[in-house]
Amino acid sequence: MSIRRIDPHAERIRRNRLHPRHHELVRPAWRWTSAEGVTRIDPHALGAIGPNGIKRIDRSGGAVDAGPAVAREAARQDEAVPSRRPVTIDEPAGYVMVVPECLEGRLSDHDRDLFGLAHQLAEDRQVAVVAVTFQPALEGLEEAGADRWLDLSALVADGYAPEARLAALLAVETAFSPRHWLFADTFPGGGDLGRRLAAKLALSGEREDERVAAGVWQVADGQCLSRAADRQDIQRRLPRILLALAECAEPLSETRHEARPLTLEARFQSSFQSSMAEPGEAGIVDRGRVAVDPQRIPLAQAPFILSAGRGIGDWEGYHHAARVLGASEGASRVAVDDGHMPRARQVGATGTFVSAGCYVAVGISGAVQHLQGITKCQRVVAINSDPGCDMVKRADLAIIADGDAVLAAVCERLGQPRAAEPSEAVPEAGSGALSKEERQHVAA
Ligand SMILES: Cc1cc2nc3c(=O)[nH]c(=O)nc-3n(C[C@H](O)[C@H](O)[C@H](O)COP(=O)(O)OP(=O)(O)OC[C@H]3O[C@@H](n4cnc5c(N)ncnc54)[C@H](O)[C@@H]3O)c2cc1C
Repeated sequence: MSIRRIDPHAERIRRNRLHPRHHELVRPAWRWTSAEGVTRIDPHALGAIGPNGIKRIDRSGGAVDAGPAVAREAARQDEAVPSRRPVTIDEPAGYVMVVPECLEGRLSDHDRDLFGLAHQLAEDRQVAVVAVTFQPALEGLEEAGADRWLDLSALVADGYAPEARLAALLAVETAFSPRHWLFADTFPGGGDLGRRLAAKLALSGEREDERVAAGVWQVADGQCLSRAADRQDIQRRLPRILLALAECAEPLSETRHEARPLTLEARFQSSFQSSMAEPGEAGIVDRGRVAVDPQRIPLAQAPFILSAGRGIGDWEGYHHAARVLGASEGASRVAVDDGHMPRARQVGATGTFVSAGCYVAVGISGAVQHLQGITKCQRVVAINSDPGCDMVKRADLAIIADGDAVLAAVCERLGQPRAAEPSEAVPEAGSGALSKEERQHVAA
């Protein structure tokens, strides 16, 4: 028989919230055994305050056992800014070049995977991983893993210029003789540029055996695996130029690199100038971007989605906001079932899986079936009147307010308010649509 012993002194301290040792002794109180021998759990003692100020329940009790509340909060703050080990390379023994896509001017997850792969290839810590970019300002290169940063924007004008970019990369090739070149296997981005580079080097006779490995998703022991049709893999010897798929390697999470600026010597710049075609002779002329109706982009590929749920009352205001923001429209299943949105716009497990860079969910509670459809979105913004809903917990940024009012304010701030004031959506006879009040009543 086990006898439960009580320390009366500790019990007194536990009851006295002002005692300096109170937090220390109150820890185990989240779970105890009652006099009847039943395990009791205090739900209020479970969990910790998350980064967005919302309480997260941790049923393991780990967060509670971790220490007094003050110490837990300090630990949480430490976790929020994890310290990375700084890595510096002063005299690189060689270079691995990474040409990130930088879609929309930012490093993508795919780009970070490329840097992870580059470090896998660098093996020797004295080999520097170089970010070769065509834009002057780029954030996050240090965390991504760039030891050096070679910005070629001064040589190549912005826009679609594969010939000029190729000429610039050839100058880099001559200047640094990199051990590897890594591109994201996308079209018309890195996939096109990497193939051009390999073809040019092979045709010029400099490296006749230069062949790219495309669709690379794994590299190990001097071999690489490329994804072919019918989900078959091709294994081959590791070439110098790799066009890699997303998730080809783990992005770096423990180290912070310098991204020290690297320059192309003047003589290589002049070789670049001489290799460039005269303005009238260029094979490709960039005539600028073509405006695309965001509603005609397939939802799965849309980069920016404004999604609506049952919390929307002013549907005209919502469509107007999507037009003003240039966003593709998405919807929760309830918004579709209620007849506000077409079935093709439904996001989620039984709708479309989206991968937007920015996903704005207005009046969507964040049911698990909906959240399954947005796992690949880079940034999620929730606009919801309920601070405790799951969409707010999932979001990177949450606005706790009336969805219609926020959308109207955004349009107004952008100088394009709706001509008419948003109506309170009085349903037309026989339309089947419920007014906002009716819907809130039903929800209640
Ligand atoms: C088998 C199955 C498959 C499913 N598949 C899908 C799917 O693919 N996609 C999908 O979306 N759902 C799917 N569902 C439905 C899902 O479970 C939810 O019912 C649905 O996602 C809820 O939609 P909602 O968030 O728009 O509505 P609700 O859950 O009712 O949420 C409305 C939200 O709006 C907020 N709100 C209310 N008024 C305002 C206001 N004035 N301003 C701001 N916010 C406000 C509320 O706080 C609430 O968070 C599926 C369900 C099943 C059973």
